Order: sequence, then C-alpha cells, then structure tokens
Amino acid sequence: MKVLVINAGSSSLKYQLIDMDTKAVLAKGLCERIGIDGKLTHEGKKEEKYKADVPMQTHAEAIKAVIDILTDKEWGVIDSMAEINAVGHRVVHGGEYFADSVLITEKVIKAIEDCIPLAPLHNPPNLIGIRACEDVMGKGIPQVAVFDTAFHQSMPQAHYMYALPYEYYEKYKIRRYGFHGTSHKYVSQQAAEMLGRPIEELKLITCHLGNGSSIAAIDHGKSVDTSMGFTPLDGLPMGTRAGNIDPAIIEFLSEHENLSAKEVIDILNKKSGMLGVSGVSSDFRDLDVAINEGNQRATLAKAMFNLSVKKIIGSYIAEMGGVDAIVFTAGVGENDRSVRWDVCEHMEYLGVKIDPEKNKYRGKQMDISIDWARVRVLVIPTNEELVIAQDTERLVKEAGKA
Ligand code: ADP
Repeated sequence: MKVLVINAGSSSLKYQLIDMDTKAVLAKGLCERIGIDGKLTHEGKKEEKYKADVPMQTHAEAIKAVIDILTDKEWGVIDSMAEINAVGHRVVHGGEYFADSVLITEKVIKAIEDCIPLAPLHNPPNLIGIRACEDVMGKGIPQVAVFDTAFHQSMPQAHYMYALPYEYYEKYKIRRYGFHGTSHKYVSQQAAEMLGRPIEELKLITCHLGNGSSIAAIDHGKSVDTSMGFTPLDGLPMGTRAGNIDPAIIEFLSEHENLSAKEVIDILNKKSGMLGVSGVSSDFRDLDVAINEGNQRATLAKAMFNLSVKKIIGSYIAEMGGVDAIVFTAGVGENDRSVRWDVCEHMEYLGVKIDPEKNKYRGKQMDISIDWARVRVLVIPTNEELVIAQDTERLVKEAGKA
C-alpha cells in the first residue's frame, strides 16, 4: 500500500509518499508560498532536488502540483494517481473528540471544525488540506486524520485540569491537551523495542526537543502527563516561545508597554524563549556558536532551557514513581549533546548516568547511558510521517477499504 502523508499549513504543505510494504519514503517535498505565487521543492527519484516556481493560488492547486510531480516522467515515482491508496493528514487539534486517529467522514470534519477555537492557526489549514485532496483525488480516496493531541487523551483528569473555576472547563473545554503526540507515541514504542520489553511494563519520559519542545510521562504505554497545555505555548521555554510564566506578567506588560493581551501573547509566542533571552537566535546551533564566543545571554538561555527540561523530568519521575528510560528526540534532542549532558547531570542518585563517549554520536538511534545505569537514556530520531502512514494503513485496512 502507498500512503501520501500531508501536513498542511496556512501557506505551505509538506508531503511524503511512503510505501508501507517496505516503509520506504519514495518521495517527499514542500509546497511554499501558497496563495502568493508558489514554490515546489521535491526529492525522490534522483539524487538532486527538483525546485521550481509553480503557481499555487489555493491548496487544491498545491495538491495538484504534488500529484503532477509524483507522476512526472522524469522526476516522479509512480505512473498514475491511482497508485496512491490512501492519504494521511496531520491535524493539530482533536480536542476531546479524538483519542486515536480516524478515517475522515463528514462527521469527523465537523468535529475538527468544532476544534477550530482551540487551534485557530492550525486546524483551518489542516481542513483545507483535507478538502483539497478530496477535490483533486476524488471522494473515493480514503483519508485519515492523525491528531497531535490524541495520544495525550489518556491523561487522568487531575493531570489535565487547570485550577480555574470549573465552569470554564465545562463552557470552553479549557484544559491541558498536549501536543507532539505522534512523536511521543512513536519514540515510546521504539524505546520499548530497544529495551526488549513490552511497553505495558515500562515507565518512560520522552523529551521532544526541537523548535517547539514538549516532554511526556508515558506510564505503561499511556501518556499520563505532558508539558504543553491548552496551547503549545505552555511548558518549556522554546526557540521563540516563553513556555510557562506567571500569568500576571501578561497584564503587567500590557499596562507598562501599552499592548493588548493579543500583542503580549504574540511576544510570548514569537519573540521570547531562546531568541528573547539570548538576543541571538532561536536556533540552538547559533546559540552554541555564540556560547563559544563567550556570549553570556546565549549561555543563560541554554542554561534556562536545560534546567526546565531537568525540572520536568524530575516531576514526572515523582509522578510515575520511577522511570525505566528517558528518551531524547527531535532536532535538539537528537543532535545537541550538551543539552543531553546538562539535563542528565547530577541524577546518578536516580540511576541516570550518560556515557560521555556514547553521547558524542548524534542523529542516530542509540542507548547513551553507561553500562551500570539503572535508567537507560536513549536517543531516538522521531518519524511522525511514518506514524501517520501506519495509522492510515491500519484504519483503511480495518474499514475494508484496501
Ligand atoms: P520543529 O520540527 O519543531 O520545527 P526540529 O525538531 O526540526 O523542529 O528542530 C529544529 C531545531 O533543532 C533547530 O532550531 C536547531 O536549534 C536544532 N538543531 C538541529 N540540528 C542541530 C544540531 N546539530 N545541534 C544542535 N541543535 C540542532
């Protein structure tokens, strides 16, 4: 079975065509500047990348451009659109409706629409991507929605509630949802495989550290806590996001800087985090260059990040009554050895100790703990597209549509 994985943003659309028999990525690429002019970057058949200006006024035109390049004689990897058996979509917010991926129907689309107030920037383009595929590929093609929030729906109520008047939960569904669920689920399953033990026996802490970062406590295969909350602004300080702050700061800044609440939130989302503290960059590679040059604020930003990761790991160990493995994934988690080292330093008393030699490797799946460590520290490259494709295959087969 061949599955087309789509991640649609407001003006961009990422795609991968995956052959589920071999798990091989046949082709992948990116449509950018949708609604402005249109740019397509594609890789698949050849070593070099295909890059071209392709007019894309709408997402449907972008999907059409994707199908055209996938079936192109020179650059394509399939002969016709009919070879694509199903489409899997990343959808950011499934609210309390979805605890698993789902085959898309009109009822499902309505529920995703109902979640728009919870993710006003993400769910609308995700829906447009779904409609665009339907328009270009026809209603007959099975489509599946895979939600960032679904994996965390297993959190017990005491873990997902905010201590606000209860009526706001009832009225607006204000609660912790958590994100990056697809990644946390994937790396936790990989971790169980690496440890050679069933996931139902394990207590895991998965650290997805990238531009956006979140940590999850996964007890017996179920997410029981996670650091992102009602929105992806909560939890750790990130590339440009502040993470958890005293909410009273919002009113203070609004008054003293003469800003609306929306403008303050915009600062918390786009001008804070590593960028805001360092004044250098949101990218950890740039921070490392600045740190090596003696930049104090870059050093401070990274120290704050590492400390936040450590504090959340500590709280999840307390919550679960122990941990078998701590997993690092995503751009920073997979590559940045100083983050992994600093986070795990001084945790020997908990059974955590990284081997400095093994920690030198980056971007590959490995156990980096020293031999005697009771808690294994694992680096596992994430693969959200593969999870989306696997869920799509599973649901399409279950529905007898393949
Ligand atoms: P997202 O998917 O959230 O956009 P990624 O998981 O791709 O983010 O992570 C991107 C971040 O990973 C970059 O901003 C950069 O800071 C960090 N990163 C990537 N490669 C390295 C590296 N070799 N060393 C340190 N940090 C890295």
